Amino acid sequence: MRHGGAESVTMNVPFIDLSIQHKALREEILASLAATYDATRFCLGGDVERFENAFAAKLGYPRVLGMNSGTSPLHVGSIAGGFGPGDEVIVPAFTFISSAWGVSYTGATPVFADIDPRTYNLDPKSVEARLTPRTKGIVVVHLFGQPAPMDDLMAIAKRRGLFVVEDCAQAVGARYKGTPVGLIGDCGTFSFYPTKNLGGCGEGGAFTSREATVFEKARLLRVHGMARRYFHDVVGYNYRMDGFQGAALNVKLAHLAAWTARRRAIAARYRAGIRLADVGVADEPAYGESVYHQFTITHPRRDALREHLTRRQVGTDLIYPVPLHLQKAYAPLGYGKGSIPNAERVCETCVSLPIFPELTDEQVDYVIDSLNAF
Ligand SMILES: *Cc1c(COP(=O)(O)O)cnc(C)c1O
Repeated sequence: MRHGGAESVTMNVPFIDLSIQHKALREEILASLAATYDATRFCLGGDVERFENAFAAKLGYPRVLGMNSGTSPLHVGSIAGGFGPGDEVIVPAFTFISSAWGVSYTGATPVFADIDPRTYNLDPKSVEARLTPRTKGIVVVHLFGQPAPMDDLMAIAKRRGLFVVEDCAQAVGARYKGTPVGLIGDCGTFSFYPTKNLGGCGEGGAFTSREATVFEKARLLRVHGMARRYFHDVVGYNYRMDGFQGAALNVKLAHLAAWTARRRAIAARYRAGIRLADVGVADEPAYGESVYHQFTITHPRRDALREHLTRRQVGTDLIYPVPLHLQKAYAPLGYGKGSIPNAERVCETCVSLPIFPELTDEQVDYVIDSLNAF
């Protein structure tokens, strides 16, 4: 049923509701956690190995390391890329802050580049403009689940000998021209934070690389730089995935394809239904199907639109309100307002709509009607 009245509240659509999925899978996940508990497989271990192998086989990766967050593999990838003090690494200005953390943790300097406002992804022309003799790498983010333009970015990287880290935290299951994201650059990183497309019951992440040497470096760094028990070859970290996350993710991985299909169906419904004047809806270029971690639109009167949706009990979120170059943490880098215009404009005009897989068509239609009534 379609609803016309501009202020008629007939439904409550949360921005995200993790409880539906976790209620449905409760018995299965708790049984899996109990098996881990009974076997005391608490850190890495059989459940994590099973997850690494299943994730690799299902999604097309040659090798996968389970880790304790999506930020840790970005750090490890930055070390594997040889980033360090004096080096510059190009990072999009419009992303989650972790995309830059890995670079900063090594002492290298993130150099923020602009995005293409039609896809929200890194603009190869902006990357080109920021190259210097110190440029050592690029962190490419497949933002909101949409693969970035890898051919153009890799052409720059190859020409300049740059190391490419693909931040796939929002793009699990996405492919660029048929290749799984994370296998085009030198390494790929994932997050299993609970709100991600594949979320654990706590913190988690993963690392992959098409290059065995990069992968083995990451494996060493993940567990205290330890090649053999109590023999430490390099300064390492404790970035192990815990056993419970492997156990929970083993249950959830079986549902990922269906959840992704549902996210894509919701996105298609939004695209077909949204008719509000002046609204900006991102393109989905033919080179890569999005897995729609977010469905983010832009509107010149974003704040008023958001208030209108809140009155209609439609949950929204601002992802992201501030670009990386204007974050307080990066103030010492000296970027001013207006220096990265597309990223800034998107931050000022974007709003993300509900797109979790358990949304009903009626809820999606209610969001559409509410938007169109603005
Ligand atoms: C979530 C996310 C991360 C970090 O993941 P954590 O698991 O929270 O450490 C990194 N990059 C992007 C783009 C993300 O969305």
